[in-house]
Amino acid sequence: MLRPSALEKVPQPKLARLIRSSGYFRQKARKLKQFVIFLRKEHRGSLAAMFRTPTAKLREQLLRVHGVGPETADSILLYAANHPVFVVDAYTRRILQRHGLAHGKESYEEIRRLFEKSLPNDPQLFNEFHALIVHTGKNYCRTRAPLCSQCALRPLLPQPVEGSL
Ligand code: SF4
Repeated sequence: MLRPSALEKVPQPKLARLIRSSGYFRQKARKLKQFVIFLRKEHRGSLAAMFRTPTAKLREQLLRVHGVGPETADSILLYAANHPVFVVDAYTRRILQRHGLAHGKESYEEIRRLFEKSLPNDPQLFNEFHALIVHTGKNYCRTRAPLCSQCALRPLLPQPVEGSL
């Protein structure tokens, strides 16, 4: 079932049942179907061929697939295809805002460019950097009562966050 051709053949309700534990499984089943159709049409069903596509072109193609937004497209580019693209998520925005590096109205692209122009163009670095942001966001920089006193980024905080512990 992990082969793209098998994913395309399986009935959508069955696929939804198989991925139930991932949450939002009906929407995800529909999106997976759209993705494998795209893969067959644009890249003869080959992930290797898709991964070899130049970054900007592949990003543009992925964003045209129904259900694929910038964060998903960039996650595929970085984590699956090893392209140097920075993934921006809600944790990234929250940490930047609390540290006075963003005001909250920036577009996804503006934040992505900020990281990409500030860091060496290295997929492994982007990969780990994003993973560390997720770790910090989940375990310290919570929406309510962030644990600033225990966080490694505390020395970089310009002013205390309201309600932080
Ligand atoms: S120091 Fe506080 S605001 Fe900064 S990342 Fe850590 S928890 Fe978030």
